[in-house]
Amino acid sequence: MTKERELFDVTIIGGGPAGLYAAFYSGLREMKTKLIECQPFLGGKLNVYPEKVIWDVGGLPPTTGEKLIGNLVRQAMTFNPEIVLNEKVTGIDKDEDGLFVLRTASGRLHHSRTVILAIGGGILKPTKLNLEGAERFEASNLHYTVKSIGRFRDRTVLVAGGGNSAIDWANELSEFARKVYLTYRRDTLKGHEASVTMLERNGVVCLPNTEIIRLIPSERDEDLIGRVALKDLEDGAVAELEIDDLVVCHGYERETDIIGNSGVRIEMKDEYCVKGTPSGETSVPGLFAAGDILWHEGKLHLIAGCFQDAANAVNRAKQYITPDAPGWGMVSSHNELFRERNRALKKRLFAELAGAPK
Ligand SMILES: Cc1cc2nc3c(=O)[nH]c(=O)nc-3n(C[C@H](O)[C@H](O)[C@H](O)COP(=O)(O)OP(=O)(O)OC[C@H]3O[C@@H](n4cnc5c(N)ncnc54)[C@H](O)[C@@H]3O)c2cc1C
Repeated sequence: MTKERELFDVTIIGGGPAGLYAAFYSGLREMKTKLIECQPFLGGKLNVYPEKVIWDVGGLPPTTGEKLIGNLVRQAMTFNPEIVLNEKVTGIDKDEDGLFVLRTASGRLHHSRTVILAIGGGILKPTKLNLEGAERFEASNLHYTVKSIGRFRDRTVLVAGGGNSAIDWANELSEFARKVYLTYRRDTLKGHEASVTMLERNGVVCLPNTEIIRLIPSERDEDLIGRVALKDLEDGAVAELEIDDLVVCHGYERETDIIGNSGVRIEMKDEYCVKGTPSGETSVPGLFAAGDILWHEGKLHLIAGCFQDAANAVNRAKQYITPDAPGWGMVSSHNELFRERNRALKKRLFAELAGAPK
């Protein structure tokens, strides 16, 4: 049997918070687990905001997206699941034995007894500026994500967009940048009230009813934006703004073709979410969903919500394979699976304490 034809108990599609926690929990339920992610890295949407501080995950002091990815990945690897990166799943089918066959862009097939769909909002691509020649600045000072806040220290930054993401970045960058401008096409911003109020306190200059119409290269380097031409949408006037960086937050295009291209019929709530039960069941027996892609009554579209979804989906997958298995796993504090690991942890802690200065 080739590696490709190996049968897994659970195959998780998507390596964001929901998929990673599902990989951990599936190991805890002693199932043979594979996780497939189309990007060359794990962490899902957390990679969009690696330096932003996350406050609302229970039991975690404020942490960054990057640190949370590290912790999630470490936890996901506890039971050594098979991780396949750079693999885009293009469709989900069932064979004549009722087993799942996942088609991929590389042509490889993956075989599984159950599947957990954890694809978040699908494959995300930032909505780019619709201006001729804009792509040539992407290697220099036109940004669609903020990878490192330090880069913006003492610089003049124009943020484009009227939603939460643009507002948050304008606030966050204002701590480091010399000056931050915010351009948006509407009269008002569409963001959390507290964040909008903070813009003024942080000295962000808001430019409502304006639109970028041209990127003007710098005189010293033609691959660098030097100025941006902004049009006032109320009276048509055009003004040029000198900047060091342009951060565009015009949202994301989401690719969820996998759903429509599947042989199994996955019922949707709308174009963005799979309709499921609070336990993660979908319209397809054996196919479960978790995280942002799942909608059910009482759904929490937060990282914290991903964890409950993932554990539920894994528990249902376990019972799909072994109907008389308990509905949930033994809590980790009393779970025999951790006995040896707890011993090792305790040993390490004692060794550290013994070596610590008195
Ligand atoms: C800017 C921003 C800030 C946020 N801040 C917070 C916050 O402070 N607190 C909070 O709780 N939540 C926050 N969120 C929301 C949080 O990030 C999401 O709820 C969470 O990431 C959802 O996790 P997920 O695993 O369901 O999906 P995702 O994180 O979207 O991961 C899905 C993964 O599936 C992969 N995938 C998709 N399609 C395929 C395919 N066909 N084949 C293979 N792989 C595929 C994707 O590449 C991706 O890696 C924020 C979101 C954004 C955008």
